[in-house]
Amino acid sequence: MARPFLADADWVRKRGHRSDEINTCIGCNQACLDHTFQHKIASCLVNPRAGHETLLSLAPTRRSKRIAVVGAGPAGLAAATTAAERGHVGGAVEADAEIGGQFQLARRIPGKEEFAETLRYFTRRLELTGVKVHVNHRVTATELAEGRWDEVVLATGVTPRAVASRAPSGSTCTPTPPSSPARPNRPTGRGRGCGGIGFDVSEFLTHVARTASRRTATAAGRVGRRRSGDRRGGLRAPVRPESPRRVYLLQRRATKVGAGLGKTSAGCTAARCRRAGRDDPRRGLRTDRRRGPAHHGRRAPAAPALLEVDDV
Ligand SMILES: Cc1cc2nc3c(=O)[nH]c(=O)nc-3n(C[C@H](O)[C@H](O)[C@H](O)COP(=O)(O)OP(=O)(O)OC[C@H]3O[C@@H](n4cnc5c(N)ncnc54)[C@H](O)[C@@H]3O)c2cc1C
Ligand code: SF4
Repeated sequence: MARPFLADADWVRKRGHRSDEINTCIGCNQACLDHTFQHKIASCLVNPRAGHETLLSLAPTRRSKRIAVVGAGPAGLAAATTAAERGHVGGAVEADAEIGGQFQLARRIPGKEEFAETLRYFTRRLELTGVKVHVNHRVTATELAEGRWDEVVLATGVTPRAVASRAPSGSTCTPTPPSSPARPNRPTGRGRGCGGIGFDVSEFLTHVARTASRRTATAAGRVGRRRSGDRRGGLRAPVRPESPRRVYLLQRRATKVGAGLGKTSAGCTAARCRRAGRDDPRRGLRTDRRRGPAHHGRRAPAAPALLEVDDV
């Protein structure tokens, strides 16, 4: 229970009739174990006050302000609900049809389904604090100025960078659905960048869709855990599902691929990649150009390599 208590110190008080108010630990290890291994103060991704309670004081305000929050990703949701809890008034505006920002993408990555719990938590927090989120509205600077707000919180996240290589006009970089078995074991994708998002996208692309009833058994099987416990230690040989497509992970830096991932996740992420056919990470690479279905890359200063891929 160590991690759940970091995510929500009121876990015991809330369990039972208020369990829908619990800020759930999403099992990411990012701010607790990974921080500890780096000799930093253990905290929590979904509760950054953990370990910093005396520094970040959230007492009721003496002067209530009108505060507008732009963006309803995790940052905007936390800002809007915390401000309301302290006695400020206002609301949040979101350009998308639903709250969550990039967490809506993250929760779709196989193995990151628990990110949805954070959105469930914030949905309940919005109800409890009475904060209204106006969705489907991209707010402008003029509107904000006309609103005469005391404070405006810009929590608009980041804009994805366009693929820099020259793509032929009309070509598309949209990945095909991961469950499509249309071209088994063909090198269909090329992940650009081998940071957390690059690994996540390749996990998404190589994942084989399963029914909900089989998912738990398969998750245990992937790591070699046996559910029935009829074998000593509850272990058996891991099941390695075949990926419907092959993905190249490419990076410019010459460092080890995945070197930037957290200590607790790097090992198993790399192992999952090898098992799923993403065993061809290339580093120290400079992109030259993209033409037709083929991508030209150069592992500087070595000879150019041509990767035949369907999507980038
Ligand atoms: C696939 C994937 C996996 C990830 N995995 C992890 C992980 O394991 N760990 C981790 O820490 N992070 C992860 N992230 C990153 C994490 O999701 C982001 O860091 C986080 O969502 C940032 O929150 P935010 O609220 O600052 O911005 P965002 O989540 O980007 O939200 C910004 C919101 O503002 C809205 N907006 C923008 N402009 C306007 C406007 N003018 N008017 C109204 N609304 C506007 C946008 O529509 C958006 O909903 C992942 C991201 C992705 C895509
Ligand atoms: S950092 Fe992640 S794993 Fe650690 S307690 Fe918080 S949500 Fe749980």
